Amino acid sequence: MSLSKCIGAAFAALVLSAPAFAQDYPARQITMVVPFSAGGPTDTVARMVADKMSTELGRQIIVENIGGAGGTLGAARVAKAEADGYTVLLHHIGMATSATLYRNLAYDTLNAFEYVGLVTEVPMVMVARKDFEPTDFAGFINYVKGNADRITMANAGIGAASHLCGMLFMSAIETPLVTVPYKGTGPAMTDLLGGQVDIMCDQTTNTAQQIKGGTIKAYVTTTPERLDVFPDLPTAGEAGLPGFEVSIWHGIYSPKGTPAEINERLSQALKFALADKDVIKSMADLGTEPSPAGDATPAALQAKLQSEIERWKPVIEAAGIYAD
Ligand code: ASP
Repeated sequence: MSLSKCIGAAFAALVLSAPAFAQDYPARQITMVVPFSAGGPTDTVARMVADKMSTELGRQIIVENIGGAGGTLGAARVAKAEADGYTVLLHHIGMATSATLYRNLAYDTLNAFEYVGLVTEVPMVMVARKDFEPTDFAGFINYVKGNADRITMANAGIGAASHLCGMLFMSAIETPLVTVPYKGTGPAMTDLLGGQVDIMCDQTTNTAQQIKGGTIKAYVTTTPERLDVFPDLPTAGEAGLPGFEVSIWHGIYSPKGTPAEINERLSQALKFALADKDVIKSMADLGTEPSPAGDATPAALQAKLQSEIERWKPVIEAAGIYAD
């Protein structure tokens, strides 16, 4: 065979093998990396959708928690994984903020991943241990400002949603607070319940049950409107801190080079999960709802990530907070 025929045959084999590989997908179990501890808000969302996506794909999706460094360790792990569709990442807004917050990320955020789709957008609530003295948000702000050197605020590390929310709060009240980083707000919640830490800003997916059960105190939501799940809880704007607003979008990513057919297949399974009535109900109980089907797509997530990196860059630069 001539050299050009040889190269031609090799090229044809490559071109033919990619779709064939994608057609058989998934042939085995898939790992979904959650870059925070088990039992926290990101884990809760991941387990809800992984379960239903497994049903649609006919293969099990196993959730693996790789917490630490505000979600960047888990993301780095997926960035380096085989681009074969058997390792995916479920991450939140921290995927965008860590691109600016970290000076030496182990991956290039916009070039290390492919996109599957958006999952949900979760509101946040400012909460405190059950016996925290202030009874309303005005009192909360005064008390926190007056005791800034001894009040502890939990978060899941630089790049976590709880960190971002805490950073926005401190900047809004112009007071730095003592922060305590965890590998996820699951373990942070355990300490809040035990009174080892005082306050936290976290997603309703990790706080709704405790607020309903009266085991922690809630002061405000960080949303423009009140939440159906807590109609009596004021928004930060109503309670005197307009502009203190943030909600936490989540997306599913695969390593760069994962075939488009596989990302589309995963997106199809994601849409199935987000339309499931049990998922809708569980999310509603936790103060959130699934992303619309049109957003559970690779293109929508890619656009969201790009625009969110741009949105948060100046905010982070103004706050002057960086990690190495
Ligand atoms: N999502 C949480 C945060 O960013 C962490 C977690 O899921 O545990 O703070």
